[in-house]
Amino acid sequence: MKKIITLFTIMLFFSCNSSAQKTKAKEEKVYPVTKTDAEWKKELTSEQYYVLREAGTERRYSSSLNKESRKGIYHCAACDTPLFKSEHKFDSGTGWPSFDREIEGNVDYSVDYNLGYARNEEHCATCGGHLGHVFNDGPRKTTGKRHCINGVALKFVPEK
Ligand SMILES: [Zn+2]
Repeated sequence: MKKIITLFTIMLFFSCNSSAQKTKAKEEKVYPVTKTDAEWKKELTSEQYYVLREAGTERRYSSSLNKESRKGIYHCAACDTPLFKSEHKFDSGTGWPSFDREIEGNVDYSVDYNLGYARNEEHCATCGGHLGHVFNDGPRKTTGKRHCINGVALKFVPEK
């Protein structure tokens, strides 16, 4: 009997332990492309690292992609996943490249309170890199959404 109790205690310990680990994994989502901070630092410019990995914001009007009007696809600067299409880009006048929709499934959303109120943060669904935020003051004629994206987090690939 004593043996059974010991076994049960051990099992209980392990099951508690594994559920604690599951909770942690839920908080820290594991992305298909996962790298250490040191690896990202090596691969990205300091500006890209600040935006993509530290959820920073580039200076408005600093991105050359604000004026980019060619046909093509905007990829994640960190892992090359296609995120936005040029046909969904619009001039929001905010100083950041803006789109009325993402390429579905390739962008993930979460809520941040960095400015003291809830904002829908968006990040690359493949590497978790921070891209920007989505607001509800986009073009009424299409989706009504404004995806306000840091140009430094994107890599434009023109259509050939
Ligand atoms: Zn990515």
